[in-house]
Amino acid sequence: IFALRSSCYFSTGVVEPSSSLRSPPRVPNLIGGKFVDSQSSSTIDVINPATQEVVSQIPLTTNEEFKAAVSAAKQAFPGWRNTPITTRQRVMLKLQELIRRDMDKLAMNITTEQGKTLKDAHGDVFRGLEVVEHACGMATLQMGEYVPNVANGIDTFSIREPLGVCAGICPFNFPAMIPLWMFPVSVTCGNTFVLKPSEKDPGASIILAELAMEAGLPNGVLNIVHGTNDIVNAICDDDDIRAISFVGSNMAGMHIYSRASAKGKRVQSNMGAKNHAIVLPDANIDATLNALIAAGFGAAGQRCMALSTVVFVGDSQAWENKLVERAKSLKVNAGTEPNADLGPLISKQAKERVCKLIQSGVESGARLLLDGRNIVVPGYEDGNFIGPTILSGVTADMECYKEEIFGPVLLCMEADSFEEAINIVNRNKYGNGAAIFTTSGGAARKFQTEIEAGQVGINVPIPVPLPFFSFTGSKASFAGDLNFYGKAGVNFYTQIKTVTQQWKDLPGGSGVSLAMPTS
Ligand code: NAD
Repeated sequence: IFALRSSCYFSTGVVEPSSSLRSPPRVPNLIGGKFVDSQSSSTIDVINPATQEVVSQIPLTTNEEFKAAVSAAKQAFPGWRNTPITTRQRVMLKLQELIRRDMDKLAMNITTEQGKTLKDAHGDVFRGLEVVEHACGMATLQMGEYVPNVANGIDTFSIREPLGVCAGICPFNFPAMIPLWMFPVSVTCGNTFVLKPSEKDPGASIILAELAMEAGLPNGVLNIVHGTNDIVNAICDDDDIRAISFVGSNMAGMHIYSRASAKGKRVQSNMGAKNHAIVLPDANIDATLNALIAAGFGAAGQRCMALSTVVFVGDSQAWENKLVERAKSLKVNAGTEPNADLGPLISKQAKERVCKLIQSGVESGARLLLDGRNIVVPGYEDGNFIGPTILSGVTADMECYKEEIFGPVLLCMEADSFEEAINIVNRNKYGNGAAIFTTSGGAARKFQTEIEAGQVGINVPIPVPLPFFSFTGSKASFAGDLNFYGKAGVNFYTQIKTVTQQWKDLPGGSGVSLAMPTS
């Protein structure tokens, strides 16, 4: 995916005939507008999860290189913050056009490195593209407030100013959408940015950065560094970084939240999930089954918005039989194959972990209605595939219920009443999303009111909200208080400043008053 040009690597989007002859290409850092090869001798392989081929290698960026990236961002900040907002918006207008132009290239890179189907990879890019489109209206989004004559001859207004250098730390499961939740909003607000892509699939970030620069983003406004824990800790500790956006697991997210908060930084941390669907007996059968299958097994369950647990109110048997029937018909294959419904898991370790959780469910008494663990995909025998798997009779004390599985595994539970179903969902520590399937408006309204989850679906599996709203996970799924994108995202990346001004002939001669001023 990367080709050597002078001393820099650039993504070309095509696998060149000669690339297999080279040792795996190294993914460059982006520092001060230049794609530069790291001096580090430590690397991590980026592996195609359908074939185990080494696609590229990321460097464990050195501390000097990291400092150079932050310094480039810091130097670029004064010029960029003073660049007219209309100019900053126009860079985004151009960027959205270029992302559309290179959509296929981005999707192919995502499928190669992450494994999801090409169609799903297009969706990954498209949902990020929508955030770029939204950032094109930043002048309105970032607009302040004004009250004239708060006291005689005195006006007060508030403005939203950029913070300075911000940073983003990304997970593997949406290699385009999640970086695009972060840097377009941040830089259009006038900040500069240091992005750390997932070490498992960094390619899309590099392509997006190339496009951002082609769109006119000045040198140093967006920088990219690669690595894992050490570089993340360096981001948390660096005094010049003002805010951190994180998306990923709870373990990393809570570590980053506390370490960076202790350094006085703003942090927004989107983390793990266990999203439930409650199915009432009156739900539309076909639409509900389609939603459960799509949201349970799409992207091989590696979505933070996957519906991984369904709670049937009343007898679940008829529902489960139909679910199994439909899940069996899904095609598991490499994401590049046109018939694929779901691709492989990201790594051998991820597959092993998911298999263990399935086994623990069986051992603690759940019924394995469909077992995808031993699937073999012809032509891709080394891929990290697990087929759709359904466990029924799951209870809240089981390990497979308590842990986020992050694989194509649907857990089925039963509740005797609607209240009991709501209680099951509310007792779960995660609060990313929950959905209900019913034809009763009253039940839907009760659910919407009583359910403790940040994103609620009513007859829709939990959708990632469009960018004019925010991504509003709650409870253990989020730490911080300003969510990603939407109004909250703009507030996260800006500091409010309130100005009180007086322009009138100043009163003289009446002496000075030390009392608290009142209007
Ligand atoms: P992860 O936490 O393993 O990795 C995320 C990032 O954190 C990576 O860049 C990684 O290098 C870094 N990291 C990992 N461990 C670290 C540590 N100990 N110290 C410092 N940095 C560390 O997550 P992942 O496996 O890439 O992504 C899957 C997880 O992300 C799932 O839990 C999923 O639910 C969650 N996710 C949440 C959302 C959301 O919006 N809530 C969206 C997508 C993914």
